[in-house]
Amino acid sequence: MVNETLYKKIAEFTKLNNSTLVAVSKIKPAADVQKMYDMGQRDFGENYVQELVEKQAQLPADILWHFIGHLQSNKVKYIAPFVHLIQSVDSEKLLKEIDKQAAKNNRKINVLLQMHIAEEQTKFGFDEHELMNLDVNLYPNVHITGLMGMATFTEDKEKVKREFEQLQSFYKNFEDAKKIELNTLSMGMSEDYELAINCGSNMIRIGSLLFGKRS
Ligand SMILES: *Cc1c(COP(=O)(O)O)cnc(C)c1O
Repeated sequence: MVNETLYKKIAEFTKLNNSTLVAVSKIKPAADVQKMYDMGQRDFGENYVQELVEKQAQLPADILWHFIGHLQSNKVKYIAPFVHLIQSVDSEKLLKEIDKQAAKNNRKINVLLQMHIAEEQTKFGFDEHELMNLDVNLYPNVHITGLMGMATFTEDKEKVKREFEQLQSFYKNFEDAKKIELNTLSMGMSEDYELAINCGSNMIRIGSLLFGKRS
């Protein structure tokens, strides 16, 4: 169920902070997406390829679909024709496949590189060393527009803050080192989006606050 009051509040907050709100609709019905679309929302995030493909087919064509879940290389082809931004790029193998599928579809695909900042080993992403060693010029059909990260799932706000600050400062170093222009730092979810914005995020990914808890 869509929480209209919270949606309006968070949409207003993101706008005031020159940020982009990505409404994370994973596991939620297409009708909920439609409802938020009717309230003006255009950026939606999904974690599962099949679910995204099904929703894309039945919802308005001008929705900007963000892929934010762990993506297997062999599934890139299903979302390559339409995806707006793949936020969860976590390997060179995946970059290579996105580049190939983008070329096949005669388009450039926007991506964020996911950086591992949390303590949990279950979370995906490159570490700083891997990112610094990445040759960003090998993928002509991929447009690297920024970085994405997920903080540790914890009540310890100081820890979350340190992780966000680490990603924010790395973002600048990476841009300088690679001589590329980035425009997106995606960090912050339902529990920590205000903190993330204070730490320099300009894209937040909110699910449960907008659509209710997932079962
Ligand atoms: C599910 C998910 C979100 C949204 O999480 P909430 O806590 O429900 O806001 C954001 N980012 C990623 C990568 C996710 O998988």
